[in-house]
Amino acid sequence: MNLARESVELLGQMAWIFLFEGTRHGLSDRDWMALRFLARANRFSRTPSALASYVGATRGTASYIVNELEKKGYLERTPSSKDKRSVTLSVTSRGTKFLERDPTNVLVDALAALDDVSKTHFRDALRQMLDRSDTAQQRRHADSCRRCMFLWEGRADTEGGPSSEFNCRLFRAAIAESEIDLLCASFEHRPQ
Ligand code: SF4
Repeated sequence: MNLARESVELLGQMAWIFLFEGTRHGLSDRDWMALRFLARANRFSRTPSALASYVGATRGTASYIVNELEKKGYLERTPSSKDKRSVTLSVTSRGTKFLERDPTNVLVDALAALDDVSKTHFRDALRQMLDRSDTAQQRRHADSCRRCMFLWEGRADTEGGPSSEFNCRLFRAAIAESEIDLLCASFEHRPQ
């Protein structure tokens, strides 16, 4: 069988771990996707609109998901200090604990059992596939600052923040080293 086709077929079978009917531990597959994203998202993406774009839903559906997760105590929202109409979503300690029951952990464990070279190849291959399919489908996937075309490395004074080694040219903000590997829904990969 064609190697590419065989791999995509395997990915399709794996997708059933991410996508399922009904609920697992009380959450739908989309709720899990949202909670997982918000636990890894940077401060610019912990918003209802970034969440809507990540889960591929309307703002109304994203608000519904946020309400459900908030009711269960897994999320909390705080008004933005800059714009009172915006909110920042944060996963609570209860939500973080609950993520130990994430149905996709079975895949994380299976991957963790591979050697480092295989893990790196697998991750890089998935990234390349996403980059290529984004271009073909004129969409963008979420990823980290490290690979983003808006990341500027060099010391600069940014609006309202201290000078930093890393800065985001899109948000005109300093990026702390601890934020470099967090997920951002506004990510755009650098042209090759
Ligand atoms: S550098 Fe890119 S990934 Fe990082 S915050 Fe800015 S837009 Fe998002």
